[in-house]
Amino acid sequence: MKTKKRIALIAHDNKKSDIVSWACDNSAILSRYELCGTGTTAKLISDSTGLNVERFLSGPLGGDQQIGAKIAEGAIDMVVFFWDPLQAQPHDPDVKALLRIAVVYDIPIATNKATANLIVGSRA
Ligand code: PGA
Repeated sequence: MKTKKRIALIAHDNKKSDIVSWACDNSAILSRYELCGTGTTAKLISDSTGLNVERFLSGPLGGDQQIGAKIAEGAIDMVVFFWDPLQAQPHDPDVKALLRIAVVYDIPIATNKATANLIVGSRA
């Protein structure tokens, strides 16, 4: 039986400092979850918080699709995805597919800090 809920963490390049700072502010809360994320985001969060974050491929190389597949398998309970609304991404179809599959499976997906705080129960 699964004990801890699993959060996937993803941020586009211009949003990486935001997700790292959010993860540091909430590291005590995040330590109660199993964490995973796209390659660079996972490494940055792991390095800055000391938390274990399972690394998938980098987003543009298929990491978003791996996380989407995990959602479809029922292996991810929530997603924090700080996507960049001001810059086109080469893997935009993958981004759209991830947002879509999260809705299909009714998985909470936070795309900004305010929503991320709500879904993890932050008091920050
Ligand atoms: P990254 O991927 O964490 O490997 O940078 C995120 C993305 O751009 O989708």
